[in-house]
Amino acid sequence: MKLAHLTDEERAVYEWQMWIVGFGEDGQRRLKSSSALVSRCGGLGGPVCYNLAAAGIGRLVVAHGGVVKPSDLNRQILMTHDGIGKSRIESVARRLRELNPRLDVVAVPENITEANVAGLVGQVDIVFDCAPLFPERFGMNRECVRQGKPMVEAAVFNLEAQVTTILPGKTPCLACLYPRTPEQWTRQFPVLGAVSALAGATAALEGIKVLTGLGTTLAGTLLHVDTATMEFRRIPIRRRPDCPVCGGLPT
Ligand SMILES: [Zn+2]
Repeated sequence: MKLAHLTDEERAVYEWQMWIVGFGEDGQRRLKSSSALVSRCGGLGGPVCYNLAAAGIGRLVVAHGGVVKPSDLNRQILMTHDGIGKSRIESVARRLRELNPRLDVVAVPENITEANVAGLVGQVDIVFDCAPLFPERFGMNRECVRQGKPMVEAAVFNLEAQVTTILPGKTPCLACLYPRTPEQWTRQFPVLGAVSALAGATAALEGIKVLTGLGTTLAGTLLHVDTATMEFRRIPIRRRPDCPVCGGLPT
């Protein structure tokens, strides 16, 4: 991959993170040369987008339908009170450009569907699954496996958060972890913004690691955090040989 050069303005903005051993100017140039899809941009995806934008990713494709509702504002940090009743994705794009005017934001005013998932995944280097519903999550998982793209998978419920990184052919995919849609899963669920922000920031960091080679990722490990007790657990996860999505890939 031919890496983008940094401008003097970018060197000034990213100076402090380029001091990180293992990141440096090379990591910054890799990030600038990278693109990501984030779906959706609510409690989880908002902090993912915000942290990727702040860190200097080159291009963000963000997909989120609907309008801002009062019940979004406890956790969806890219939405604002004066945006209630207006497009969520316009609020997301505006806030991201305010933070980082160098960022190329592609605002998609719809959620992931069977009709758009292949094209959206095909535009980017990495996918962040921040969707609450399993049909969307399974759709992104299937396309990432088919197209060989990494996917960072994040979820929250109540005071619990979990994050893992899926590398097709190397780690379990989402269908290995969930052979069936959990029965109790619903679109609305208890959540505190600080918990989804923790999971979102963790997911963004995972993506930065995958894209730049910094540190060690959660590939093959599910990070489970119970914020009620602040217990962080690393759970080894394995591929299912009979997985209908990734079972045919070489091990
Ligand atoms: Zn699988």
